[in-house]
Parts: sequence; C-alpha cells; structure tokens
Amino acid sequence: MNFLITGAAGFLGAALANRLAREGHQVRGLDDLSTGDPQSLGPDVHFTRGDVNDRPKLWTLLQDVDCVYHLAARVSVQESVLYPREYNAVNVGGTVSLMEAMRDVGVRRVVLVSSGAIYGDQGEQPLKENMTPNPRSPYAVSKLAAEFYVNTIGDLWNIETVSLRVFNAYGPGQHLPPSHPPVVPNFLRQALRGGSLVVHGDGSQTRDYVYVDDVLSALVAASTAPNLDGLTINVGSGRETPVRDLVRTVLAVTGSSAEPIYSPNTPGGVSRMCADLTLAGKKLNYHPSISLEDGLRLTLQRDPRLNK
Ligand code: NAD
Repeated sequence: MNFLITGAAGFLGAALANRLAREGHQVRGLDDLSTGDPQSLGPDVHFTRGDVNDRPKLWTLLQDVDCVYHLAARVSVQESVLYPREYNAVNVGGTVSLMEAMRDVGVRRVVLVSSGAIYGDQGEQPLKENMTPNPRSPYAVSKLAAEFYVNTIGDLWNIETVSLRVFNAYGPGQHLPPSHPPVVPNFLRQALRGGSLVVHGDGSQTRDYVYVDDVLSALVAASTAPNLDGLTINVGSGRETPVRDLVRTVLAVTGSSAEPIYSPNTPGGVSRMCADLTLAGKKLNYHPSISLEDGLRLTLQRDPRLNK
C-alpha cells in the first residue's frame, strides 16, 4: 500500500514509518521538524520537510496514497496551557487542512492518532469510548476537535475515518524537550544520572502506560481492518498504574536509588486514566502484550540517549 504519515519524524510517526517500510509498503513522511528528527527515519521512507497546513505540499504528497496516518501535532499538555492558540492552529487547523487536501486529491482513508486525554476526569474507570469527553487542557480540546472534524468531514466527503485514542505511549526515541519532557523517558534519564524524579502531585494519580510496539500493532491494523468507518477506539495497555508505582519500577529496572521529589500538581492534569480495550480487541484484534517492566527495559536497551 501507499501511505502518507504526517508527523513522521516524531516518536510514534518514525516508529510507524520504519515498520511499514520494512513490511514493503511505500511510505511518504511529512514533518516540519519543530520537534521531530529526520535521522530517526530509515532510508526507505521518503521524507519531506513541511508544515501540515501547507496545502500545495499536501496535494503533491497525497497523489496515489491509499491511507493517511495523521500524527503531526503539538503534544504537551502543560505547554498547551500556555499556548492554546498554537495548539489550535496545528492540531485543529492542520487536521482540517489535511482533510480538505484529501478531498481535493481523492484519498479515501485516514487514521487519526487522537489521545486518551480527551476523557479528562471521569466518575469511573476503565475509560470507554462512549463516555462523554471532559477535556481538561487545550491539548485535549484540540485532539477532540480533530476527531470531530475528521468524522464530520469524512461523512460529508465520503472519506473513511478512524480515530485511535492512544494513552501514555512510551519507548525508545520519544522526544525529550528541556521543558515539560514526557514522564517515562524523563524518569529513566534522571534515574540513570542519579538525579531527582520530580512527581507532580502526591503520586497517586494513575496513567495507562503503553509500549510503542503495542501501539504500532493497533496503528498498523487500523489501515486495513474492515468496518472501522467513523469509529473512535482506545489504544492503551488496559492497566492502571499510579505514578508512584512507575517511579518504583523505574528505580528497579535502572538499579537507581534516586529519591522522588513531590511538587505541586500542574494545571491541565487528570487524576485517573485507564483504557477499556474491548472495542480495540474486537475491531483491531488488539491485545497488548508488553508489561511496564519489560517495556522500560526495552526502552533502556534501545535508546542510547538515556544513558548519556
Ligand atoms: P512527537 O512530538 O514526537 O511527534 C509529533 C511530530 O509532529 C513531531 O515530529 C513534530 O515535528 C511534528 N509536527 C508538529 N507540528 C507540525 C506541523 N505544523 N507540521 C508538520 N509536522 C508537525 O509526538 P508523538 O508522541 O510521536 O505523538 C504523535 C501523535 O500521537 C500526536 O498526534 C499526539 O497527539 C498523539 N499521541 C501521542 C501520545 C504519546 O503518549 N506519545 C499519546 C496520545 C496521542
């Protein structure tokens, strides 16, 4: 098949692009390199640097494409609290630009990588796709708006759409910006350096941490599985882990004796998150298999940056 992946030089985009190229597909990647690294892409991925709002570029890249994976986005909850306009322009505007360009060129299928963040705080766990979303940050609002745009425009213009609500994905190659780094690689790096593991809140807040290879199996299935049109599907591990247990596991796998430091909670955060995977099992035959401990060990083995 012929694929276009937006956000292809990012953590999930590059892992997906390399996997599809290895499987013999034709893969084009688009990324503005605002955070992505083109070096993470193998030689068989045809990479173009560009903005997801650049429609002429999209028209060219979409020629003869069977399916688009849309991952280009700004991805930090905390940063979105400071710069909501930027998050709206890229995550919402970029999605609309892509859908319009797909209509213009006649591309028939898109997989949107959405986020479990759209659920916000809910009365019960695990989180099911039919719960009313309760976004708590501009990032979460932007991902929910992207879902609505993809579904609505897909209906109007006869484009098959599916949105995957990915929970806390981690693994080698995850972007590590100096401010607001994602929690898993940041804890691993800090533990290896003997630095402090700063926990926002008291550590009782829970997340659903899912290893990148499990996420990839859902993404790959979503481009060909039948009867997905218009669906939103959770992709997580199905396990609810308090942040203080994540700290314990990170210390165990790194052999570190670093002490966690508890700091005030940050705005936009959510207290509990765990994905219900019933729909993913039925529709994508998705059965995540990598435990948190194994996933952390694999991340350490495969990501040389963490040991620096
Ligand atoms: P990432 O930051 O590594 O990847 C995003 C990529 O998009 C980056 O390479 C960046 O350069 C690119 N990008 C940003 N703005 C762009 C623009 N205007 N035009 C073109 N490219 C642009 O993050 P990631 O973790 O790989 O996330 C990928 C997708 O998965 C995002 O849509 C994110 O919302 C979603 N997601 C990720 C997680 C996770 O835990 N990693 C969880 C839920 C959803």
